[in-house]
Amino acid sequence: MTPDSALQLQKLGHECAIEAGAGEKAGFADADYKAAGVEVINTAAALWKSCDVVAKVRVPTEAELKRLRKGQTLISFFNPGGNEEQMQAAAKKGATVVAMEMVPRISRAQKMDALSSMANIAGYRAVIEAGNNYGRFFTGQITAAGKVPPAKVLVVGAGVAGLAAIGTSTSLGAVTYAFDVRPEVAEQVESMGAEFVYLDFEEEQADGSSSGGYASVSSPEFREAQLAKFRELAPEMDIVITTALIPNREAPELWTEDMVKAMKPGSVIVDLAAEKGGNCKLTVMDEKIVTDNGVTIIGYTDFPSRMASQSSTLYATNIRHMLTDLTPEKDGVIVHDMEDDVIRGATVTHAGDVTFPPPPPKIQ
Ligand code: NAD
Repeated sequence: MTPDSALQLQKLGHECAIEAGAGEKAGFADADYKAAGVEVINTAAALWKSCDVVAKVRVPTEAELKRLRKGQTLISFFNPGGNEEQMQAAAKKGATVVAMEMVPRISRAQKMDALSSMANIAGYRAVIEAGNNYGRFFTGQITAAGKVPPAKVLVVGAGVAGLAAIGTSTSLGAVTYAFDVRPEVAEQVESMGAEFVYLDFEEEQADGSSSGGYASVSSPEFREAQLAKFRELAPEMDIVITTALIPNREAPELWTEDMVKAMKPGSVIVDLAAEKGGNCKLTVMDEKIVTDNGVTIIGYTDFPSRMASQSSTLYATNIRHMLTDLTPEKDGVIVHDMEDDVIRGATVTHAGDVTFPPPPPKIQ
């Protein structure tokens, strides 16, 4: 919750409360919340006790789950696919859990799609982080002190994070290339001023594409063609940003050790897939390493937290929109409509039952 989102929540008829200090590191002081009519409660335990709906960011801890009670609603990231025990525990308590990563990726739900709002930040920040570790300009320059060539940036994976990285990179003036297994993104990549990397592959570059806008695992032949292209590009690229993910799987390994070795000293790799095992063979999760040949590899997994004010603002808006749909009469009364595709899709426990996984959404 931000002070601004609290004002909107009050218009829905809700009373708002926040744990003391919760907004501090994102630049929102307790006094700002108080000024927006929010009650500041000293401890998290007291807050959980007094509120009907609790919204948070991270997957709840054991202690937090113990605080859940019948009829209470928790809105949070929950990792339902990997959190069976916690889900059962929440259901047993009779609490409703709305898992933010389960918001269906359909047009109507975009305003509450926290995966997208956070991926957008991660993509932007990946480029900033790369720039911070790269010893040269992004843009080419002709100056009295000499001619500077533009940096060459390759973005692997052009989903939400990749497109944000491409936009940031081109706006800083780098020559930007991008690759994705889904050929339909080529137009978006090109419209952002980057060059789409095509493979010399006999079939259409659709091998890794599947339904629903997500990628599937590539065939060995396609993968070989992809790696051959990356090998060709590696010595030329100054910055490589990898964002390739396949739902419910480890990240595909696409940037091999020999590619890292072929890169110039001073080059930077930012691996946004680090949490899922990394797209780059040498990535160390949550760390920045420098290889023997002088390539910096960044495996941070907390890019949104590195821009806490921005992330909080966007996430608070996602949560506020979720609560708007959960408060249809704007009278402060939560109506959990399991016939609503978006609410149904995101709800993983309700009325004593585990309701994950949801049926596929009816609307697109
Ligand atoms: P993601 O995080 O699952 O994957 C990131 C990207 O990696 C994807 O573009 C994927 O194609 C790519 N990838 C996978 N394997 C690869 C490989 N071997 N080589 C290169 N790239 C590879 O994806 P995402 O960012 O969550 O978005 C996936 C899709 O969902 C996009 O089409 C996006 O536009 C769509 N989307 C729709 C909505 C909506 O309609 N509300 C919201 C968000 C995203």
